[in-house]
Amino acid sequence: MRVLVIEDEQKMADLIKRGLEEEGIEVETAYDGDVGFEAGKSENIDLIILDLNLPVLSGLEVCRVLRSRPDGRHLPIIMLTARSSESDRVAGLELGADDYVTKPFSPRELLARIRAVLRRYQTPSDLPARDGKRRAYRFAGWEFNLRTRKLTAPDGRKLELSNSEFSLLVAFCGSAQRVLSRDQLMSLSRLHNAEVYDRTVDVQIVRLRRKIEADPARPQLIVTERGAGYIFVPAVESMY
Ligand code: CA
Repeated sequence: MRVLVIEDEQKMADLIKRGLEEEGIEVETAYDGDVGFEAGKSENIDLIILDLNLPVLSGLEVCRVLRSRPDGRHLPIIMLTARSSESDRVAGLELGADDYVTKPFSPRELLARIRAVLRRYQTPSDLPARDGKRRAYRFAGWEFNLRTRKLTAPDGRKLELSNSEFSLLVAFCGSAQRVLSRDQLMSLSRLHNAEVYDRTVDVQIVRLRRKIEADPARPQLIVTERGAGYIFVPAVESMY
């Protein structure tokens, strides 16, 4: 676990660094936005703590460029903001920051935010993505082949999936019988290099339901949990 702290006030940056290191987290520091942006491109960084008020390249700029990474990997960003800068905070969240902490804050508060943000992105279901040995999933009579990306229906019909449908179904199979929020579905789908954006999660789910539900108007497999997200209901068996 490695965190990058981008903060021009050296004292503040070092304070955060010490606090996190005490918790066993590795910390890199950058004292301006330009250096921070370069450091943020590293693959070794798991999360960024980003001060919004920075020299050279502002925190909002850093946030914007790191959000539009070409590799599509979601890098969680927690902004540090002054109490008075609500418009910056809103702008930061709109640019894709995951959360913010208002100065002054305690190391404990920051740590709690870090844990909460990471929980959103590190569900046990991101394991299947790294488990290259799994060949297929089976659920409710369906077979979902991860190599060919094809679905075989209980009656033997073969169905093609779009990239985003494939990613969503992998996320569902890896976290069956648990509620997944839109955020979780989006970040899980990124593990498979297909971006599924907030507004399109629902659209993709409608499409997926048309393919796998006996009656898409009354879904039995992908069920909506009002206000929380979706739950993939069937028991899922992994095949190796
Ligand atoms: Ca600052």
